[in-house]
Amino acid sequence: MPEKNELTEIKPGARVAFIGSESFPFIKTGGLGDVMYALPRALLPLGCEVRVLMPCYRCIPEKYRDQMEYRGSFMMDLTQDGRTFYVGIMELELDGVIYDFIDNREFFDWGNPYTGLWEDIPKYCYFAKASLAALNYLNWVPDVVHCHDWQAALVPVYLRTRFDGTPVSQARSILTIHNLRFQGICSIDHLKYWTGLPDYLFDYAVFKVNDGEANMFKGGLAYADRVTTVSETYAEEIQTDFYGEGLNGHLWYHRAKLRGIVNGIDIDIWNSRTDRLLPVQYDEKDVLSAKPVNKKALQERLGLMVDESKFVVGLISRLTDQKGLDLINAAFTQMINENMQVVILGTGDPRYENAFRYYENTYPGQVCAYIKYDESLAHQIYASSDALLVPSLFEPCGLTQLIAMRYGTVPIVRETGGLKDTVEPFNENTGEGNGFTFDQYRADLLLDAVQRAQRVYQEERDRWNAVVVRDMEKDVSWGLSAKRYLELYEELK
Ligand code: ADP
Repeated sequence: MPEKNELTEIKPGARVAFIGSESFPFIKTGGLGDVMYALPRALLPLGCEVRVLMPCYRCIPEKYRDQMEYRGSFMMDLTQDGRTFYVGIMELELDGVIYDFIDNREFFDWGNPYTGLWEDIPKYCYFAKASLAALNYLNWVPDVVHCHDWQAALVPVYLRTRFDGTPVSQARSILTIHNLRFQGICSIDHLKYWTGLPDYLFDYAVFKVNDGEANMFKGGLAYADRVTTVSETYAEEIQTDFYGEGLNGHLWYHRAKLRGIVNGIDIDIWNSRTDRLLPVQYDEKDVLSAKPVNKKALQERLGLMVDESKFVVGLISRLTDQKGLDLINAAFTQMINENMQVVILGTGDPRYENAFRYYENTYPGQVCAYIKYDESLAHQIYASSDALLVPSLFEPCGLTQLIAMRYGTVPIVRETGGLKDTVEPFNENTGEGNGFTFDQYRADLLLDAVQRAQRVYQEERDRWNAVVVRDMEKDVSWGLSAKRYLELYEELK
């Protein structure tokens, strides 16, 4: 990883404060935690100076808490009735990125980290305001405050209201949507109380959604100078009724400031050449000889019939409706055949867990349903499968198809969100493309895509192999995306 050093030029306009509720390696519950970790690191070599502000949760591992240094503290008013709260700033540096942890035991000493909206709303009202106050306290004025998801959505609103005229108000704001499903909705009275924000903001243009209800994400989207989400297609989709989670009208209204920038993956963690979790390590030069060996090892580990000629299809996923599992369920008995094996790794909705267990019992030696969260097995499945299935109903970006390509595993995806933007469909005429795709949310189209993939695998191996190598060569790192974020920061200057 690049380190901050004398040779790294700090470009004006690229001083960025990331504000969000979680970041790997301190605390991660989803993709947000990955982005908060990887994007700041990818911005450093581009000449950016980055600070990350996040809550100082009790559940952050001891080894990081021990490295934190106290940077100062102050009291901050917050609520409508003027109650004040302690704000402590604990700091550590990791690979050139400075992390400022906002410390307050009342809010962050329990939970892992989210508990329920009733408590989370006060927690993140406090966090948003305290983050801006901390930047003023530290006398570190960023060019951009880059806020993430509903937990940081009040930052753009505070910036232009309560912080107007203070040093930090020189910053412009970006709000990135990672997951539109969670929006921070509560009663207007509750949000008014905990933010202390003026009445005029609780109108339909900003916070108000229904009679008596306020939506924190909605307010942030209204006040942010730019709004981004994690793929171009998803940026379009969320302006429609089907994908907009009730905010489509609001997002359409603000569409001039909406952009899509696709996520990358950490190519040091996901590196098949150095991955110690694989029986055989490989890159694009020896993938074609390494994959069959890895495949046999996986088949042995999971009790599948050991035979390298089988077409092995993997699925690594949270087992929820979002992931298109009802399509797999509907197509399964027609899809499975004697030349195919299916490996499922996931946990979630018991309905899907049980369905996959049923298929494992019905097709012994051909289907494995591993109903667990298992990082090491995930690496092995990515490396050993021929294809990876991602038929999502919606997918803001999606990481599994990117990891699969990096490991020379051909994705079979539905053309939605980031799946559409990252997987170019295989062209039967030219042999070009990265994977097999289908458009409408229909089981027969999923079945057709899987059958097309299997046919190319079995009957046109040279073309299949060309896709495998091409996928491994595709740039799925954060490099390109970080450049696009930098362009956006510069656009705001
Ligand atoms: P989402 O964030 O919607 O769950 P993504 O595709 O963005 O979907 O990211 C999913 C990440 O979680 C990937 O890194 C994937 O490998 C990992 N993952 C999902 N389920 C499991 C599991 N059961 N075991 C190990 N890793 C998993």
